[in-house]
Amino acid sequence: MRLSVTEKIQKLKRERNAVILAHNYQSAQVQDIADFLGDSLELAQKACGTHADVIVFCGVLFMAETAWMLNPQKTVLMPDSEAGCGLAEMISAVKLRKLKADHPDAVVVCYINSSAGVKAECDLCCTSSSALTVVESIENGREIIFVPDKSLGRWIEEKTGRKMILWDGYCPPHHRMLAESIERRKKEHPGALVVVHPECTGDVRRMADRVAGTGGILRFCRENPAKEFIIGTEPGMAYRLEKEIPGKKFIPAVPGVICRNMKKTNPEKVLWSLEDMKQKITVEPDIARRARKCIDRMLDVTAKAQTE
Ligand code: SF4
Repeated sequence: MRLSVTEKIQKLKRERNAVILAHNYQSAQVQDIADFLGDSLELAQKACGTHADVIVFCGVLFMAETAWMLNPQKTVLMPDSEAGCGLAEMISAVKLRKLKADHPDAVVVCYINSSAGVKAECDLCCTSSSALTVVESIENGREIIFVPDKSLGRWIEEKTGRKMILWDGYCPPHHRMLAESIERRKKEHPGALVVVHPECTGDVRRMADRVAGTGGILRFCRENPAKEFIIGTEPGMAYRLEKEIPGKKFIPAVPGVICRNMKKTNPEKVLWSLEDMKQKITVEPDIARRARKCIDRMLDVTAKAQTE
């Protein structure tokens, strides 16, 4: 009997003791075969706690690097290792070292959307869901460098009142979401609440009823009694929301604005990667050791905040 792609994946997963982690921006087909869906923080935490020998990471390169750095004894596979992140590529370790040289006393915080090499230069890492907690954990009066996302950085400044030195990076898909598009959607759906990601521009964030990372968007839409939501983030998120919160309507703010890198993975590539045990993601040991410190500090700060 011929097995479907999904059945072949399930069989290989059992044979290899593998787990499939997928980001909320993955396609519907990939979300449907994942064992666990989440935002960057949830996936990092899941990677930390898994008993699987093999992690198949459906996301972009910095996420798979993070998963491996948290689990160097495990095999981390990326079905398409060419899936990079346009935002992460806007800064390099060399450029960051130059900025640090101008501000030798600054605490350096990076968004998790950065390469292992950049993380190795930083004191602390954060995700969009942990950003406020992480920055608030830094003692008042300390100079802070925040890289690479200037929109997330400005949102943190607005929420915490902390002034930071921001890198001039941005997420290309989120920056293509314009205030005009949100206005149009609001006219079409006057009762809908607007929920956007902090990677959106200030103009878009100011129109929102709620600004949150993808995990926070899910919680807000689940808990809020409203029936319609305009979702200002990558449209893959709307699929997860529809599946997990039946009876409510989720309208992508700009359906055509997708993250092409997030859409490079598909079920066939997941299957091939499990068949051939490719493409293995690792990080050079010294970089991994230093980058791991800044990821661990984020996990410590967020774990402490969650128990308080
Ligand atoms: Fe990077 Fe933006 Fe794509 Fe996220 S949506 S992976 S930040 S380019």
